[in-house]
Amino acid sequence: MYRSKSSPWLHEWPTVDVTRSKIRCTLTAILLLLATGGWVVPVAVFAAPATPTNGATFNITWGTPPGCLEPPPEAVTALAYAAGLWGMWISSTVPIEVSVCWTPNLSGGDVLGTGAPAEYIYNFPGAPLVNTAYPIALANALSGSDLDPARADMTLQFRSDVVWSFVLTPTHLTAPVYGEDFVTVALHELAHGLGFTGNMYEEWNVGFCSHFLNPCPTPYDRFVVDSASIALLSYLPNDPYTLAARLKGDANFGGPNTVAANAGAAAKLYTPTNWQPGSSLSHLDQITFQSGANRLMTPIYSGVTRHPGPVTLAIFQDMGWLRADGAPNVVTSGPPIIGAGQVVSMTGNLVWSGYAGQPITYTWTATEQITTIHPGLRAMDEITFTWAAPGEKRITLTATDGNASASATRAALVYNVTASGSTQGNTNHTYTFNAAIAPEITTFPITYTWEATDQSPIVHANLYQTTDSVLFAWSMPGTKTITVTAAMAGAMTYDVHEIVIEGLVLDKHIFLPLVLQQSW
Ligand SMILES: [Zn+2]
Repeated sequence: MYRSKSSPWLHEWPTVDVTRSKIRCTLTAILLLLATGGWVVPVAVFAAPATPTNGATFNITWGTPPGCLEPPPEAVTALAYAAGLWGMWISSTVPIEVSVCWTPNLSGGDVLGTGAPAEYIYNFPGAPLVNTAYPIALANALSGSDLDPARADMTLQFRSDVVWSFVLTPTHLTAPVYGEDFVTVALHELAHGLGFTGNMYEEWNVGFCSHFLNPCPTPYDRFVVDSASIALLSYLPNDPYTLAARLKGDANFGGPNTVAANAGAAAKLYTPTNWQPGSSLSHLDQITFQSGANRLMTPIYSGVTRHPGPVTLAIFQDMGWLRADGAPNVVTSGPPIIGAGQVVSMTGNLVWSGYAGQPITYTWTATEQITTIHPGLRAMDEITFTWAAPGEKRITLTATDGNASASATRAALVYNVTASGSTQGNTNHTYTFNAAIAPEITTFPITYTWEATDQSPIVHANLYQTTDSVLFAWSMPGTKTITVTAAMAGAMTYDVHEIVIEGLVLDKHIFLPLVLQQSW
């Protein structure tokens, strides 16, 4: 060991404060909420943007006095060098804006550096995972546009009072040196800024994933599982104590690319028995990975390196980053919100600079769906799904030529609507009929359209409420059908309710001759 562990980057605290975390829903702005004229449901197609894998560029802005000290020129050069390395491993058509501060006073503790996304965005056009807090650099990459041009995409800090080594080249890696290796630390903090960040946390043996400290769940959080392969987020609603226990002892990154890169197992994350804010969950396990190729993202400095390792790059790919290092990528498209019973189409495409025309096998797995295998394809793939039950559905597409493989994951939310009300009634009485959406989503405006026998349609447009009601009265007896359609974010679903309207005994004597008169 030529490198002491005496100055770890342990205890990093996230540098995202609440005022920097802006939650936005840009999805509805670009969606045409469709008129509810019939049951042939057009599907909002969220096409993936052009997906080159040519790498990424970084624009680095150093903070100036008095907030930050003037950095030495060597630090400026070394950070640009580290960013350039990341720019060869991941792709974005949008330049990644880095805000960095050279300071003796890191916010949060005695560490070498910090790194965090500057902002998170939910449900932007092109987001593969619904209701997920995407670090903005990744959101920009996935949407193919700068979703917030006014702001930096990540915030870094480096300690100004550390004896740093600013050596760039790999020859440095084999020789003992004095000082902390700046490029290694910069690669590590850039990874956090790009989204290697879990925002679930523990307090008083309760697990949390909320908007208060850091937007949650991040794409990273989405793939964290315990040893039984149960997603940690699934404990959140009903068993936050178990979530806390897992965050302090059993968390692994279980995305399909990561499992493939880690010899078939989920990658163990750093989960000490005492929760360490900013360090627990957001790193690879120290003991498992400190001596190998994936040591960059362990929490305690464990050696000079110039590469994140295959597991960390696979984690980036599972989060949604496209790799630029020649590895195959899969890009999918599909709707984020789906109505129960609605037929939706999804597409998948292999994006791979090394592709030479060989047949590709696409395998679709999805919640409550039979696994579908499409072998021998040489172009993009397409599939349709229909879900009856509401809830979040995960869709994973894996493409392989038999040797190399890559996967992409989507998460969509299926909702349904239930109509209720009286089932029997009399003529010339007013009855109330109710509609209720499940799950109770108020992220997007909902348009309720009521259609009923012998009634004009009633539209209640763009409500941010999960229930609606309507009043109907009939002058003629008979079985009346009431249909409510709930449209949201380009998706649609409906339910049918029936009421039998009987004429009053007195009415019947009067009513029947009237019918005869009208029909002749
Ligand atoms: Zn770290």
